[in-house]
Amino acid sequence: MKRCWVSLLCFVLLTISANAQAPAGTADAHVAAAKAAARQDYSGVINLCNPPQPAAGQRATPPAQQTNSPAQRTIPPASQWYAEPSKVFDNLYFIGSKDVSAWAITTSDGIILIDSLYDYSVEEQIANGLKKLSLDPAKIKYVVVTHGHGDHYLGSKFLQDRYGAHIILSEADWNFMANDRNAAQLKPKKDMVATEGQKLTLGDTTLTLYVTPGHTPGTVSVLFPVKDGNQRHLAGMWGGVGFNFPRTPEAFKTYGASARRFQDIVAKAGVDVHLTNHSGQDKTLDKIAALKTRKPGGPHPFVVGNDAMKRFLTVVSECADAQ
Ligand SMILES: [Zn+2]
Repeated sequence: MKRCWVSLLCFVLLTISANAQAPAGTADAHVAAAKAAARQDYSGVINLCNPPQPAAGQRATPPAQQTNSPAQRTIPPASQWYAEPSKVFDNLYFIGSKDVSAWAITTSDGIILIDSLYDYSVEEQIANGLKKLSLDPAKIKYVVVTHGHGDHYLGSKFLQDRYGAHIILSEADWNFMANDRNAAQLKPKKDMVATEGQKLTLGDTTLTLYVTPGHTPGTVSVLFPVKDGNQRHLAGMWGGVGFNFPRTPEAFKTYGASARRFQDIVAKAGVDVHLTNHSGQDKTLDKIAALKTRKPGGPHPFVVGNDAMKRFLTVVSECADAQ
């Protein structure tokens, strides 16, 4: 009888302690939800749930974002950032660097870019990258800049000046970019403004832009169609992932709300291809390598299904809630 009471007591205590681990709504519960959603494919983003680490020597932003003057900057050698350009779908090309991605969408009337890399990598990686892929950089008509951080916009001025490409950011991020610490002469002159739900059409292809504040005040997320032989897919990109903004409760709420709203959009639209603007977030370079050994008619490594991008957005929104 005594043993029975002891085990009953243990059972009760264990139950209480198990529930105490992660009651709904706590940071631990949000982290657990994010981890469950991340699985293996999004293990690269689960560190968003970690507490902030302002430890010495840790760099929150790339060097180009940290100084005012181009002369003061340390420009890294190409060996540190160069990545081979690659065809990913019949109308989509990877022209990004090792860490920061840029994408070219080909249409019947020219090329639309998503993001423009740095001022020091744009010519080698984007202009020469397109040429390597037998595409003409002079046909770049639009550059959708997902957000006003230097690693995504500093190449825009080159594309604007050399090819007359239209540069598109949200109003909030035009302002955000205008007020950042990069030298004014590195910035594109103000051009087109992305608005919520805007359709950007070039020739036979239409992109839909969504203003999803969080990572920056006016981060733009994008949906667009891609082609693989006779197969048609819908690609989605979440415009900015990291929590490198002033860490206020309001900022995390804004981020989480945008991610959940975009998750709904992704679900309703039936996005089945998930693209990112930093390769580590979805192991882009591994997928490109897998594409090279793809058997004819075999599964396309970038066609991950609707559930995958929804899980990705669960990871980022749950981590935002946890923070
Ligand atoms: Zn950013």
